[in-house]
Amino acid sequence: MGKEEKHHSIYLDPDKCQGCTNCIKHCPAEAIRVSNGRAYILDERCIDCGQCVRICPSHAKQAESDSLGVLKKFATPIALVAPSFYGQFPGNIGINTILTALKRLGFADVIEVAQGADLAARATEEFLAQKERPYPYITSSCPVVVRLIQNRFPSLLDNLVPVISPMEISARIARELYPGEEVGVFFISPCSAKLTAVRHPRGLEESALDGVIGFRDIYVNLKVEMARNREGEVEQLASAPPSGRRWARVGGEGEDSSTHFISIDGIDRVAEGLEQIENGNWDRFDLVEFMCCPGGCLGGPLTVTNPYEGAANMKEREGLNDPDPARLRKLPTPPGEIRWEKAPEPLSVYQLDEDFSKAVVLMEKMEEILAGLPGIDCGACGAPTCQAFAEDIVTGRADINGCVFMLRDKIKGLTDQMVDLQRVMPPSFRKKEE
Ligand code: SF4
Ligand code: SF4
Repeated sequence: MGKEEKHHSIYLDPDKCQGCTNCIKHCPAEAIRVSNGRAYILDERCIDCGQCVRICPSHAKQAESDSLGVLKKFATPIALVAPSFYGQFPGNIGINTILTALKRLGFADVIEVAQGADLAARATEEFLAQKERPYPYITSSCPVVVRLIQNRFPSLLDNLVPVISPMEISARIARELYPGEEVGVFFISPCSAKLTAVRHPRGLEESALDGVIGFRDIYVNLKVEMARNREGEVEQLASAPPSGRRWARVGGEGEDSSTHFISIDGIDRVAEGLEQIENGNWDRFDLVEFMCCPGGCLGGPLTVTNPYEGAANMKEREGLNDPDPARLRKLPTPPGEIRWEKAPEPLSVYQLDEDFSKAVVLMEKMEEILAGLPGIDCGACGAPTCQAFAEDIVTGRADINGCVFMLRDKIKGLTDQMVDLQRVMPPSFRKKEE
């Protein structure tokens, strides 16, 4: 089991946190605690799903991404555009119009990640045909899903399709097209998990990207640019077939790579699906497409358009307003293999101690504490469940008095003892006390 450098793209603004405990119940990784009226994240457990960002009523949880200012560091900044970006705009706005406006924000070139997605689909197809292990295989393009499997379902790591992500494939295309030190490659992203994936790539020694810019960080500028250049020249920048763009929505990746797949979106459903595979229930499918966000990448925490509207926008554009296939731009193929360079390792984030015998002792202690807790998972202690609270006590993160019920019983016991003491005191002393 490995340990991993702590870095995540989700962070807390302590000034905004009200300590309401809403987020602890919705974190699929049990990675949030509330202490002294403020939430904090257990870094090693966080899978970057963004659920807490969506759920926090005070907007105290934030998703990190780079700003447009970062482009100044590079003489040749290149944008890689996620397929879900097109869903942010009504379907009557063409792909080339969107890409041209984006380029005018300061990029030397823009490249469709749908192109990388299509290459990933072809590699996945080949991989499924080889059937190197029993079905089903699991899609690996969503970094949150890969991290969830590393943390909670390590027995399924071998089921992951070992093909590098469309984002990284597209970055290699960009580097092939623009070799040189002064080139900066940026992913225009619906989610901050991609930032973590760039800083700590899975399946790769090193990422080919320099940063990740969220849709929300460029949306307003882009709308202004589109309005300003309504009559301006539209460049032919599209390069991908429509199938690559469908990866934005639920089912798109599965349709592009397999003929017998099932698609699951939303992190809780994903965890349920992984349990199904672990129990051997889904071996009739050759591929299971998992997308952490509800609605797929169109529902990512850095998007600006409602995911259902985003899906409608994509559908409206498809067929009617797709780029002319005869005028698609021809891009170089990425050099070398697009398979993983190294397999992601299991991570021991839920282990009570690295030493097995110590872990067994702690587990017994934890069971003992748990047996004394009320078992109603109220969250008032700042942990999501009584079990998590018992674990926090044995690992030193919490004190038993953090449970209001235990504290109440303790105070009641002390009060009863005081009453008994009063009763047995000599009458003269009792008088003095009174
Ligand atoms: S949901 Fe979590 S982060 Fe947001 S205010 Fe409540 S405790 Fe703080
Ligand atoms: S991003 Fe997801 S895993 Fe990380 S703390 Fe928030 S809800 Fe939990």
